[in-house]
Amino acid sequence: MSEKFDVIIVGAGPAGLSAGYILAKNGLNVIIFERGDHPGTKNVMGGVLYRQPTEEIIPRFWEKAPVERPIVEQRLWLVDEESVVTIGYRSKGFGEEPYNNFTVLRAKFDRWFAEQVADAGGLLITETVVEDLLYDGSRVVGVKTGRPEGDVRGNVVILAEGVNSLLTQKAGLQKDGINSSQLAVAVKEIIALPKEKIEDRFNLEEGEGVTIELVGHSTMGMMGTGFIYTNKDSLSVGCGVLISQLVEREGLNPNELLEYMKSHPAVKKLLQGGETQEYLAHMIPEGGYRAIPKLYRDNVLVVGDAAMLCNGVHREGSNMAMISGKFAAETVLAAHERGDYSEGMLSAYQRKLENSFILKDLKKYQNVGLVMERNPQFFKFYPHAINAALEEFLTVDSIPKKEKQRKIWNYITSRRSKYEIVKDMYRGWRVLG
Ligand SMILES: Cc1cc2nc3c(=O)[nH]c(=O)nc-3n(C[C@H](O)[C@H](O)[C@H](O)COP(=O)(O)OP(=O)(O)OC[C@H]3O[C@@H](n4cnc5c(N)ncnc54)[C@H](O)[C@@H]3O)c2cc1C
Repeated sequence: MSEKFDVIIVGAGPAGLSAGYILAKNGLNVIIFERGDHPGTKNVMGGVLYRQPTEEIIPRFWEKAPVERPIVEQRLWLVDEESVVTIGYRSKGFGEEPYNNFTVLRAKFDRWFAEQVADAGGLLITETVVEDLLYDGSRVVGVKTGRPEGDVRGNVVILAEGVNSLLTQKAGLQKDGINSSQLAVAVKEIIALPKEKIEDRFNLEEGEGVTIELVGHSTMGMMGTGFIYTNKDSLSVGCGVLISQLVEREGLNPNELLEYMKSHPAVKKLLQGGETQEYLAHMIPEGGYRAIPKLYRDNVLVVGDAAMLCNGVHREGSNMAMISGKFAAETVLAAHERGDYSEGMLSAYQRKLENSFILKDLKKYQNVGLVMERNPQFFKFYPHAINAALEEFLTVDSIPKKEKQRKIWNYITSRRSKYEIVKDMYRGWRVLG
């Protein structure tokens, strides 16, 4: 391609599309490369899209975008072999404008989002893999694609390639690479179910949605979570675990793990009669603050999952992708005005991230991954112990409550000493508080 672009974006996920939308709206000549047939076909997400950050890109998007259901209730299940402890929050306000968050199906949502970028003047090229950056000496001057005569020149390249960040690594921005403790592998099924059944089973008014996160036995005690989210007439059901822990369970694959979760009595009932429409697998960047690569160099910026901007504690990834895409776009607009795409000029991107919830939150939780990986009791022992305690306490059997409390305490302390419990509470408070 002989034309030179102001901006080249690699990847049409929420990060790349957000950057592309803002840049195109501001009149820059933008090209986005996506290796999938369409944006969304290569992308996997549990499915929660956050309203406020999305509105920072496209105000009142829900009036036109293919969203599934506004989420009115978020539940957390602590899962044991045959029981669950449920905690949750339901709000009428979350079901009303401007809403808090929505479930979405990425195949539909990303495609719609890409159309908005095209309408704003961005050029989207699908079914094209960017294989490397294009250099003039040590200066990045564009990208090399897998197409014949596929070199494309541009002033700046935004790497929005997602978790499998090969170009970010090739560009020398992630010198140490990524290890199996920094990645989770996740699988997901979309299970068709009539809308009335969904609303009945999940206790919802028409059009409302709910999310359930599962912790504990649902991932066989491995560090990770399961999820069940309601769409219009389907459920998104999946689970993800840290790769380093999965490989220790020789012979166990993620699909078996999902089947195991689906067979739990409380899960099975919700899925009954549903028909699996799609099966998807993907990785999640779990490295957190410590694993963030260098985010910029002369003529290059890294955004979204490629930059490890994902908060596993709060299941936030799409919002970080979008806002980092927005910050990158703003940085590029300022650079464009000055005609200066040097590292010094692009460093404003890092400062924007530092001053925002993105790096503040990732910094707050920077030790969570490490501590949880080294302390399997948080995913194994405690969900089981809480279930066992409630089983005992809620069983009416003419035993005085004081005695039941003693029994529960003895049960727990026979498996984990008081000293270890206090230490765990302190650890938990230190990394999450
Ligand atoms: C199972 C699962 C559940 C999740 N649940 C949630 C959730 O409920 N809510 C939430 O907010 N986040 C969730 N996340 C995280 C969220 O999906 C990501 O944080 C988000 O998609 C990151 O967006 P991105 O644009 O950075 O990357 P992606 O969405 O991965 O997009 C990257 C794009 O780049 C393309 N690409 C890659 N390399 C090249 C190349 N060389 N050339 C051309 N194209 C390329 C890919 O095909 C892809 O389309 C979940 C993730 C998973 C896996």
